[in-house]
Amino acid sequence: MIQFGRRQFACACGAGALSLFTGCSGGDSAAPTQATPAPAPAPAPLTRLSAGCGLANYGAAAQGGTPWCAVSQSSGRADVDSAFAQESQSLATFWGVQPKLSFIDDCYGANAFAQPTDVYFGLKMIQDLLAKFQFNTATPIWSVLAHEYGHVMQFQLGVMSPTAPRSPAETRSNELIADMFSSFYLSISRSGQDIGGIQASLQSAYDIGDYAFNDPNHHGTPVQRASAFVGGARVALEYLQQQIPRTLAAVYQRFQQELVRVLSGPA
Ligand SMILES: [Zn+2]
Repeated sequence: MIQFGRRQFACACGAGALSLFTGCSGGDSAAPTQATPAPAPAPAPLTRLSAGCGLANYGAAAQGGTPWCAVSQSSGRADVDSAFAQESQSLATFWGVQPKLSFIDDCYGANAFAQPTDVYFGLKMIQDLLAKFQFNTATPIWSVLAHEYGHVMQFQLGVMSPTAPRSPAETRSNELIADMFSSFYLSISRSGQDIGGIQASLQSAYDIGDYAFNDPNHHGTPVQRASAFVGGARVALEYLQQQIPRTLAAVYQRFQQELVRVLSGPA
């Protein structure tokens, strides 16, 4: 299990690096010694701030066409970069895809996003999850990363469009199945060795559920997200116990069965 240390790194943002803990977006030039920097201009508000992983539902609402303020190949922390590289490689090997991972200054709110060949992970999202779980486990971060890889697989399957806006019901189904992709991966990749981390990830999925039923970025209620997470783990258990050869199409079909169960259950 990968854990991040408690120590906090000083802001290392320069060209090509974001800072995980100091939020120094927009300042990529050398700061004058002891000078008081001018306050960065506040980002323009989005018309919709709810968490969502696909860019299609943001569109022109996002400043400059992206719902983040900066993008970088480094988080500004060597240990975080290393852990993300390791987990990304594990996910890439597991699913047979290799999206490019970038860190973003998720200035509009903690978030992560997926496109067919890209995954964008917010530094605020990392910071929030580390703080919430008090540095005991980084697994909820990997759960979110695996969720984004789930969207990459949905793009690959052609069941999710990177450009066409989706209805709230379509988004909810896609998001709940991405939750299944996440717990399926965690359950198999950890081989039962990270029960505490997976439990924390289940709690995290529950906590970020929402009741914005008519919002285009509705992800599912807390109960539905937790139920989907359990569903993915259930499918993983089937695959492990029955030694079923893993193919994307078959796994996805089984997830759809779980989705029917989740949506017919309590909300
Ligand atoms: Zn998502």
